Amino acid sequence: MSHLSASAIIKLLSCGESYRRCYVEGERLAGSCATAAGQCFHKVAQMHNEYYIENKKWLSKAVLYEKLFEVMNTEFNSDLKLNPKEAYVGMANLKLAYGKKLKEAIDLLVEHDKQFIPLEAEKKMELNFNVSGQTEAVWFTMDKMLTDGIMDYKTSGMAKTQAKIDNDIAMTIYALAYYATRKELPKQIMYFNIIWGSIFKRQIGGKKPELGDTPVKLAILTTTRTMDDFRCLQRYVSMALELKNKGVYIPASPDSEKCSPPFCGYWQTCRYKSKRVKETQTIDV
Ligand code: SF4
Repeated sequence: MSHLSASAIIKLLSCGESYRRCYVEGERLAGSCATAAGQCFHKVAQMHNEYYIENKKWLSKAVLYEKLFEVMNTEFNSDLKLNPKEAYVGMANLKLAYGKKLKEAIDLLVEHDKQFIPLEAEKKMELNFNVSGQTEAVWFTMDKMLTDGIMDYKTSGMAKTQAKIDNDIAMTIYALAYYATRKELPKQIMYFNIIWGSIFKRQIGGKKPELGDTPVKLAILTTTRTMDDFRCLQRYVSMALELKNKGVYIPASPDSEKCSPPFCGYWQTCRYKSKRVKETQTIDV
């Protein structure tokens, strides 16, 4: 029986080449400040929910801020890859700017997350799929299971779209896990989307980069899943496992948005990269 993560399956089908480089060649990419901030938010949200599950009451903002301070010291480290604008302002200033944003995000969490009572938080789960007579396990971590649904915490520069949540394979996997556990379809399937906005001020002309103060926003997006979606998921997983077992890694379609520098860390050195995206010239500021 193979054990593959849900994110590996999604990567394999969205771009086999990035799957090959990441999981077969082991070329792990350095994280960015935005991903580090996302990790910090997830860890604080996990503590917030786990404490409620155990004690049936919520932690105060002061305790969550303390946890934030602790996780930021681990996540914002010298292994992160800074782009030229970030390198110009420096890690110490970036950490302050993200710290401010994360505090605003925690304020939104405390104010709006309480209406969604957790049953489980950050639970590692596994679903067994029958693929050509063989059992194949797919594992994942579900951010939050509610009494009547599921929630995924998302952090992003810009707001997630309705199309994104409607077509998100990970949400179908979580919904199926909920169905397998609770024997009914989830009534609520949600993104709790923390939107950072830009970390820099908008600039016109060749001015030097300056950190901005765009307020952090929250959007709660909902979607649905049906038994038909679960049947499609079974075919999707079968296809991914068949490609993996045969060692067939199909690069992303050239017109895919993912095949571009902001979305793919392998772009600079990839021989299959989209020709529609022009090489960018980096100018030191
Ligand atoms: S540059 Fe495009 S083809 Fe290459 S790994 Fe990235 S997404 Fe895949």
